[in-house]
Amino acid sequence: MSSEEEYKSLISNILQTTQDEIFLYWKGRVALFAILKAIGVTEGDEVIIPAFTCVVVPNAIKYLGAIPIYVDINTETYNVDSESVVSKISDKTKVIICQNTFGLSSQMEELNQLAQQRGIFTIEDCTHGFGGTYHNKPNGSYCDAAFFSTQWNKPFSTGIGGFAYVKNEALREKLRVVNEELLPATAKDAISLSVLYFVRDWVLNDFLYWKMIKFYRFLSKYKIVQGSSSGEELLSPTMPDNYFKHISNTQIKKGIRNIGKLSDNISLRKKNAKFYTDYLMNLQKTYVPYNYFEDHSFLKYPILVKNRPQFLKWAEEAHIPLGEWFCSPIHPIEEHLEKWDFDASLFPSAVKASSMMVNLPTDVKDVHRVIAFLERVKDEIL
Ligand SMILES: *Cc1c(COP(=O)(O)O)cnc(C)c1O
Repeated sequence: MSSEEEYKSLISNILQTTQDEIFLYWKGRVALFAILKAIGVTEGDEVIIPAFTCVVVPNAIKYLGAIPIYVDINTETYNVDSESVVSKISDKTKVIICQNTFGLSSQMEELNQLAQQRGIFTIEDCTHGFGGTYHNKPNGSYCDAAFFSTQWNKPFSTGIGGFAYVKNEALREKLRVVNEELLPATAKDAISLSVLYFVRDWVLNDFLYWKMIKFYRFLSKYKIVQGSSSGEELLSPTMPDNYFKHISNTQIKKGIRNIGKLSDNISLRKKNAKFYTDYLMNLQKTYVPYNYFEDHSFLKYPILVKNRPQFLKWAEEAHIPLGEWFCSPIHPIEEHLEKWDFDASLFPSAVKASSMMVNLPTDVKDVHRVIAFLERVKDEIL
């Protein structure tokens, strides 16, 4: 078996499917683009997405000339509700993207039912959800297709990377044709990945992390290591050169090595999330309620705070690694959101959440250290 086949079969075991339904890409966003193209999304088509996502999602839609149609979120799940989606469907709607946010899937049965009734395709943005389940089925297995990311902060990592799981057979045929246009990763890509791995594995270990994080930011700024997005993707929705790229062997090898850690990692995340919920519930702050735990893999644990810059500064001083997802409704874009057809006045819940959110780390060994920090700054938590 080639290493590509081995990697696909490891992925398909977790998704409880077969390896011919798995397709590998340079990044998760490339997988999304490929699926949209295989569906035939084109000029003027509408694609429904949450107003609380990563900018690379509307980018992939706009690269095809289609229009992202945003839907505001429910502030309890940070996902869209199916009723809000219904009101956005038009005769131009081609696809509904159902996003797993922080480990929790959207209302999959409802969304798929209403899409099926109208001949609309569904794609799960499962970049946060790999390895978890929704109503006892693997995340990513409800829609016509799903895409996944193996970027640093995702459920398991190959530095950067992504894959698709395509359940719809006719769509798989079309995707194989689309994939013929994929560019190969170059020798330069392989070198820059190796630098990225070196920096992450050796320089950014726990001990040196807080000293080196500034150095790492410097390296990313000057493109010495690969950041998750290239600058041009954040400036405008214009497709960069070399975007549509196949996965490299370096990533495949990394994936084979790291995918085995996934299930222990998710158990740890779920266990830590319970501590956060108990703590926050006691204080009568906003928390993730127990009724979602069964379906939640807790890549992140969201909380809302009064003054985010101040809160992040305190956390950095205390060496608590907080996340900033999503710091904008189309993360991480702070200005000129209209370039992505986003009108902030129409999505109050997403705008509010993204202005006050920080994420507690769920993969830490010592959750009580994080809780001790929260205890010191609890008046700042909403
Ligand atoms: C990370 C992320 C993506 C893109 O994944 P890449 O592998 O970085 O392309 C898409 N959607 C969401 C919600 C994400 O968080």
